[in-house]
Amino acid sequence: MQEHRARKRFGQNFLSSSGVIASIISAINPKPDDCMVEIGPGLGAMTVPLMDTLKHLHVVEIDRDLIARLKQNHRQDKLTIHEGDALEFDFGGLSEKNLRIVGNLPYNISTPILFHLSRFATQVRDMHFMLQKEVVDRMVAEPGSSEFGRLSVMLQYRYDMDRLFIVPPDAFVPAPKVDSAIVRMIPRPVEALTAKDEALFGDVVTAAFSQRRKMLRNTLKGIISETGLEALGIAPTARAETLAVSDYVRITNSLS
Ligand code: SAM
Repeated sequence: MQEHRARKRFGQNFLSSSGVIASIISAINPKPDDCMVEIGPGLGAMTVPLMDTLKHLHVVEIDRDLIARLKQNHRQDKLTIHEGDALEFDFGGLSEKNLRIVGNLPYNISTPILFHLSRFATQVRDMHFMLQKEVVDRMVAEPGSSEFGRLSVMLQYRYDMDRLFIVPPDAFVPAPKVDSAIVRMIPRPVEALTAKDEALFGDVVTAAFSQRRKMLRNTLKGIISETGLEALGIAPTARAETLAVSDYVRITNSLS
């Protein structure tokens, strides 16, 4: 078969380090009966070792050339190939609960895919992703740090997350310019999701971080008054990055 030329527009950096692949598979710890879906199987670096353990695997891939290869190399009863864009894929249709999602994600769509996947969180057991290290650092950042932003708040509300390990550029072909990292995301129990109106929660967080150098009394003007913030024990002069996720929930619930 012809060699595949990596396509930039699909964020293609293929894992080539067997040591790194083994560490990722060990972190995922697949069991034969798991219901698992891999986003962007590419040339199969993770797909093949996952299939060694799993009875069955779903994959979502957008690149037609790669889809043709996967079809040629794998039996359809072991591997279901969903052809198309993961950003439009209905992950909830794969399993009512306990779905496991994995992938070395295309970096150009990492944030939109994380937000898309949040919709299915109640049906998910866990997710393991390779992302740019800088994105993972923002996901797990603590309040008060310069990396703490909208992505941190929205994802920390929904998931418990751990950065597992860093992967250097030379683990891929072609090598990306930056370090990558593996993150584990486990949906928090529904009882922990206490925002009464999640759309409003998203609006509050977006507004607060719209100009991160400005004080909350300015960014949240029109949403909550200074007295409203003070009543919650939140200084109107504070900046978005100093508030905890629970503070954003409290602001939201004071409005709804
Ligand atoms: N899993 C392989 C590996 O680790 O070597 C490939 C990883 S590569 C970083 C990203 C993969 O996602 C590619 O196979 C690419 O074609 C696929 N991809 C890119 N955009 C996609 C999308 N919107 N939906 C589904 N797959 C996509």
